[in-house]
Amino acid sequence: MNQYETVLHHIFNDFKTFENSGKKATYIPELAHVDENLFGVSLTCLNGTQISLGDAHQPFSIQSISKVFSLVLAYNILGEDLWKRVDVEPSGDTFNSLILLELELGIPRNPFINAGAIVLADILISHLQNPKEDFLKFIHQLTNDHSIQYDLKVFNSEKSVAYRNYSLINLMKSFGNIHNDIDTVMDFYFRMCSVNITCEQLSKAVLFFANDGVHPISKEQILTPKGNRRINAIMQLCGFYDEAGEFAYRVGLPGKSGVGGGIMAIHPGLYSVVVFSPKLNKKGNSTKGMAFLERLTSELNNSIF
Ligand code: GLU
Repeated sequence: MNQYETVLHHIFNDFKTFENSGKKATYIPELAHVDENLFGVSLTCLNGTQISLGDAHQPFSIQSISKVFSLVLAYNILGEDLWKRVDVEPSGDTFNSLILLELELGIPRNPFINAGAIVLADILISHLQNPKEDFLKFIHQLTNDHSIQYDLKVFNSEKSVAYRNYSLINLMKSFGNIHNDIDTVMDFYFRMCSVNITCEQLSKAVLFFANDGVHPISKEQILTPKGNRRINAIMQLCGFYDEAGEFAYRVGLPGKSGVGGGIMAIHPGLYSVVVFSPKLNKKGNSTKGMAFLERLTSELNNSIF
């Protein structure tokens, strides 16, 4: 057993009795059907060694974690010009808030709040030949696993109740920051959020963020080292809704969470880790996932700070 394996097993056992006061996301009706007791963890070292525990093979809804992948694609297309359409400041506000967008003339605070990710979807529609296929192909390339798919039930479920996301896109369109047809953009945005993925697959997919933008297994350059630093910085400052400060303070790793209950985080130069547990705290982050990661970096004594 390596050091990570020993520590992970030991923390995982302790967390079997974790008192979880969180609640599943139910505003997307389909997510209400998820078994709230699922709990999986997968950590991947740069040499490809993977340690997986509990429900690490159970697919879950990626939701906002998809935003890191759309950001990589959009950054690789537009480079620094991307920041003319979306900013890089923490929002300190809820992920689907309309208030700042009105005050800041349709430029979203960062790419990880919904408005920002909707702009990313718009950019990808303008530049990719087949956005839906190309997005999935990118995930397949990163995981070397072609079984990963969109979940159409989740997609349709989210679309049927997406009043607020439609408000965001309409507001941005009125400011000229959406260039394509609104329904086409939203369709693509919901699709990306609907990807079904396991802890093991996701941990592999984000490993390049821990390795200067190079996928350590396939050796492909996914991002330039500079782009990689930039996106890690955005993850650290904006990856956890209006709780990014708390996550930096307690866990100390760049990462991204989603309302499906997943959290991915990376330690540059060391590993990527994904935790899945569907019950969320009031800010929308997985309660158990966040506590688990706090314990992990405390016991390993190695946050990035
Ligand atoms: N698809 C979700 C939404 O737009 C993503 C939310 C999240 O995971 O933060 O509301």
